[in-house]
Amino acid sequence: MSPIHDSENELFPDLARVLYTSADISSRVNELGRQITSDYRGRSLVMISILKGGIIFLGDLMRAVAIPHAFDLIGASSYKGGTSTSGKVIITKDVTLDLRGKDILVVEDILDTGHTLNVVIELLKIQEPASIEVCCLLNKNRPRAHEIPLRYTGFDIPDEFVVGYGLDYRELYRNLKCIAVLKPEVYSA
Ligand code: 5GP
Ligand code: MG
Repeated sequence: MSPIHDSENELFPDLARVLYTSADISSRVNELGRQITSDYRGRSLVMISILKGGIIFLGDLMRAVAIPHAFDLIGASSYKGGTSTSGKVIITKDVTLDLRGKDILVVEDILDTGHTLNVVIELLKIQEPASIEVCCLLNKNRPRAHEIPLRYTGFDIPDEFVVGYGLDYRELYRNLKCIAVLKPEVYSA
């Protein structure tokens, strides 16, 4: 059986423009995986992703990393179903692993204002890990409210609202394999 292509997805007609295809993403994730593999060899790596948007990226990135590592999940939300940030971040789920002395790599779908990552990093620091760095698939080109230790970036993107590959609009579009911009009429509907 051939895999389902995005063009068969019932949500595909809502897309105005594809920024990155599944092949673009996969090739970049492999590059990031190789870098992380060589940078973290011999260290006690724990990858921590932020629910829900980061989990597709985490799943692919983990399998592109060839050294032993653990992962955990943290729940944080700042968006209230819209397309602009509220600035208020709520932690909905804490990590379960003991992170003391570990080398933490926070794996996030997108870095926008930095509010979410800032709160998450402050929370993780309480456990006194050996190091904390960040890997973002997408980095929005806009002024940042906080200084973020961004070590790895998948793609730098313009300040537009994107969906797909884990990223949602009102909880949908996460299952698209590409990353795309929605048609304006989708928001006004
Ligand atoms: P920040 O706190 O950095 O402003 O925003 C980070 C979070 O906002 C991301 O984890 C993501 O959930 C959401 N977000 C920011 N920009 C976008 C976007 O363009 N599309 C989607 N779907 N979510 C976004
Ligand atoms: Mg998110």
